[in-house]
Amino acid sequence: MIKATTDIFGIIGDPIEHSLSPILQNWFFQQFALDAVYVAFHVYPKELKNAISGLHSMNIKGLNVTLPHKAGVVDYCGIRSREVELLNVANTLSLSETELSAHVTDSHGFKKSLGQKRVEFKNSDICMLGAGGAARSILFALAELEPAGVFVYNRTREKAEQLVQEGRKSFGLLNARSISKSELNDVIHSCRIVINTTSVGMYPNIHDCPVDENAPFSDGHFVYDLIYNPLTTRFLRIAKEKGAAVQNGLDMLIFQGLESLRIWKQADLQLNSKHLTECRSLLETQLYE
Ligand code: NAP
Repeated sequence: MIKATTDIFGIIGDPIEHSLSPILQNWFFQQFALDAVYVAFHVYPKELKNAISGLHSMNIKGLNVTLPHKAGVVDYCGIRSREVELLNVANTLSLSETELSAHVTDSHGFKKSLGQKRVEFKNSDICMLGAGGAARSILFALAELEPAGVFVYNRTREKAEQLVQEGRKSFGLLNARSISKSELNDVIHSCRIVINTTSVGMYPNIHDCPVDENAPFSDGHFVYDLIYNPLTTRFLRIAKEKGAAVQNGLDMLIFQGLESLRIWKQADLQLNSKHLTECRSLLETQLYE
């Protein structure tokens, strides 16, 4: 029951109506028996400053931040995690009596979502598609997973090259390089792991795909798509048909949300496998197959 003492958390973004975070976080609150409620706030870019300055006055305890505010919120935060300093974006804000702190939970969510697969990243060649905001978080995570090499393909090659340079300089990922479209199929063939971080194939454009129909996937590949809507993108379908092990972005979404909650509550909250399955099922009812 919501009472006068219930803690308030939320998410800001524009648009915001398709966000799954209210369903996810309110489910966490129930699971962990927390007296808290989570709501979505539609904040237009011109209102960002006002929205942030009102947080303390309204006694809001924590916020998630989605597009287009991930970069904009950083300037308002007195404390920034190392990852925020490196990536210059934040998706989680935590409020104390006097301070607003900024965190990013995407790379943690990605690593956690790998489960046992995590060990396979060490010394493997990885092909990453995309060079946007999510790609930066994934490249940061990959730096810690110690791959043999990372090959970045992006429609706009300059952005891939920029990201690779940043990976080398800031994340210590010395074995990264950008590749051209003409190299892509050969690279996919030679890499064990292929990750899509682009938005290509995301609902409603479910027939789009970031690789050719005849991309050389095989049963030796692990293919990951950050997209979770639809649950099985065309990209994953093509890879699966050729025998690859595949994974969508749903667990990453769950674990990055759990990490936000862990930051807000300063508590080691864990999901057991039964609860993880329950959480997936709840979210899946909101998504396209
Ligand atoms: P973003 O910053 O806008 O980057 C979009 C990327 O997709 C860029 O690399 C862009 O290439 C590429 N792209 C877009 N349209 C394309 C097209 N028609 N053809 C080829 N490439 C195209 O977006 P983002 O924040 O990185 O998000 C990317 C995806 O990750 C979204 O689907 C998002 O839902 C998903 N995501 C999932 C999670 C999760 O928890 N599972 C977390 C974060 C993000 P150019 O540089 O050439 O424009």
